[in-house]
Amino acid sequence: MTWVVLAQNDDLFGGVSDFFDSTEWQLIRNLTIFFAFVFWLATVFWVYKDARRRISDPWLVAVATVLGAVPPFLGPIVYLFFRPPEYLEDVRERELEIKAMEERLAARDLRCPVCRAEVEATFLVCPVCTTKLKQSCVNCKAPLEALWQVCPYCETPVDVPTAVRSADTWEDQPRPARASAAPRRKRPSP
Ligand SMILES: [Zn+2]
Ligand SMILES: [Zn+2]
Repeated sequence: MTWVVLAQNDDLFGGVSDFFDSTEWQLIRNLTIFFAFVFWLATVFWVYKDARRRISDPWLVAVATVLGAVPPFLGPIVYLFFRPPEYLEDVRERELEIKAMEERLAARDLRCPVCRAEVEATFLVCPVCTTKLKQSCVNCKAPLEALWQVCPYCETPVDVPTAVRSADTWEDQPRPARASAAPRRKRPSP
């Protein structure tokens, strides 16, 4: 009984060593090496691509790529631990957003151009140094921006000669500022 098993084992080992000598084994081994090599190249390329999206310094990108290549397969894992957490474009986008937000805040924080005192958007003169900040509407006295051609509250043209207008409106009875939506272009009868 035992010799049968031994003979079978001999056959088995003989078969195994035959298999390792055979061309099939050579083929499988070469294919495995080939696929491992291709996979290694792919991991190196992935590290290079990922590093370029996350690192701006080309030397650091090169160092990361070398790390991705050596040691093979282990390097990319080490790279994963040390890579910057954000993509460069995300960082840039966030910086732009912060900048835009700061500009919005700065626009709200109005200051007198002469004495830098804080002023409101509706102020006609700086209350601290009496610098003229804005023109007021000759009709409704609303503060006007420098570029406005017409008062947005009462439709009075801004660049009308004050001599003409002031005779009609400036000395008129006081009216509620920005009150009604009714057109006020026509002169009030005395
Ligand atoms: Zn001032
Ligand atoms: Zn007006």
